[in-house]
Amino acid sequence: MRRVSGPVDHVLVVGAGLAGLSAALYLAGAGRRVTVVERESTPGGRAGTLRVDGYRIDTGPTVLTMPDLVDDALAAVGSSLRERLDLVPLRPAYRARFADGSALDVHTDAEAMEAEVRRFAGAAEAAGYRRLRRWLTEVYRAEMRRFIDANFDSPLDLVSPELARLTALGGFGRLGPAIGRYLHDERLRRVFSFQALYAGLDPRRALALYSVISYMDTVNGVWFPRGGMHAVPAAMADAAREVGADFRYDTEITGLERRGDRITAATTAAGERISADAVVMTPDLPVTYRLLGAAPRRRLRWSPSALVLHAGTTRSWPGTAHHTISFGAAWDRTFTEIIRDGTLMSDPSLLVTRPTATDASLAPPGRELHYVLAPCPNLAAGRIDWERIGPAYTDELFAVLERRGFTGFADSVEVRRLVTPLDWAAQGHAAGTPFSAAHTFAQTGPFRPRNLVRGLDNVVLAGSGTTPGVGVPPVLISGRLAAHRITG
Ligand SMILES: Cc1cc2nc3c(=O)[nH]c(=O)nc-3n(C[C@H](O)[C@H](O)[C@H](O)COP(=O)(O)OP(=O)(O)OC[C@H]3O[C@@H](n4cnc5c(N)ncnc54)[C@H](O)[C@@H]3O)c2cc1C
Repeated sequence: MRRVSGPVDHVLVVGAGLAGLSAALYLAGAGRRVTVVERESTPGGRAGTLRVDGYRIDTGPTVLTMPDLVDDALAAVGSSLRERLDLVPLRPAYRARFADGSALDVHTDAEAMEAEVRRFAGAAEAAGYRRLRRWLTEVYRAEMRRFIDANFDSPLDLVSPELARLTALGGFGRLGPAIGRYLHDERLRRVFSFQALYAGLDPRRALALYSVISYMDTVNGVWFPRGGMHAVPAAMADAAREVGADFRYDTEITGLERRGDRITAATTAAGERISADAVVMTPDLPVTYRLLGAAPRRRLRWSPSALVLHAGTTRSWPGTAHHTISFGAAWDRTFTEIIRDGTLMSDPSLLVTRPTATDASLAPPGRELHYVLAPCPNLAAGRIDWERIGPAYTDELFAVLERRGFTGFADSVEVRRLVTPLDWAAQGHAAGTPFSAAHTFAQTGPFRPRNLVRGLDNVVLAGSGTTPGVGVPPVLISGRLAAHRITG
């Protein structure tokens, strides 16, 4: 593995999102002096928080998987998850609701899920689920150490017994057909393949190796921290600070000073100069490349975006789990619409999260919090006038929710915040998507923008735009990989 060269005693980490916090913990744990510079007032980045009228709103991720990765990062400084976070396993992990009125609870416990699949679709599908679960687990095992939790210096790094294993398991085929080998019920197929959307891909076209995301939530489990998702970055930042990492909030890096092949200092919007031996860059790629004066080697394809509607409501609805996926009937068309045609979903599939199902303290007494995520085209794919369409689309989503059992939803909303691709773009996210470069084959593993930058000896990238990719587990890993490039 290549490492950054020269002195690396003082490391500057730009960004206190989950990737930056992970890097800071591993670096501090390895005895480096760490300065974390963050333009916002709080840690978390995309895993952000918003306080409105007594509601504590998580603005980013809601599905927490692989919490061991948080534990690993905390362990790097002698702390632990158990010490800092109160994690609640979600049972069910999700509730899937379909256009035909049927519903399925997704349990991560094998027995419970097999029974649920049997109830939902019969014994043959339950047996198929068992086999699928084994396959998902094998793909995960073949992939994790070598392809996800790995620093690549060349595509040749892929050549390994694990590559042969992954090939034999069909990892380089398509996800949709791979799931279809085990399950015949169209609704069940969706439940185990929709996660490709998290990677910015149509499940029919995604590589089957992205079934690793289905493994993470349907087999490994989904958790929720009391206090909300933002408790995760808050805990990580506390742990790093307690071992001496210096956090500078409300400080934006606006320039980097370069001497030869090294970045020697960063300058802030306020004109301060912060010198460093090495730099970990975690902002989204356009910001990082602009600051470095670098460019990706080729044009990147960006993931679809998402519109998020935060609603503080005066009531909840029976049958709403912590996470409810409400599938529209026209599921397949959805991907053509948002990825290829650049149009809104004509029959929306939505993730509705009700964090107050697990932690009532996130809303004022007697109130509920709902988070509605609607996948939508990114700004490169679509020509949607969000200023105009945003409010109208909110009304459309209210109508969809009304039809799907959330009777009186619009009337119950007392606080609402709408986040559209324009907001993501304003935060510096390429093409108005917070999900960064799509995980196409050409943007996966050693083909994704690497975490070492050509021509710069002391800079490492971390976060969604580099390896392994987007999502809480990958960015936590990316922080660790970046730290390893520095500490060896
Ligand atoms: C709506 C939404 C839903 C999601 N749902 C899930 C989910 O359910 N499960 C899941 O696993 N993942 C989910 N994700 C993805 C996951 O949240 C992200 O992949 C991850 O949080 C990104 O972390 P990061 O550290 O790479 O980037 P960021 O969190 O963006 O961190 C980068 C940091 O750098 C700071 N910064 C930028 N420029 C500068 C500068 N010039 N100077 C100083 N600081 C700067 C930013 O303020 C930010 O804090 C979701 C994301 C969003 C937005």
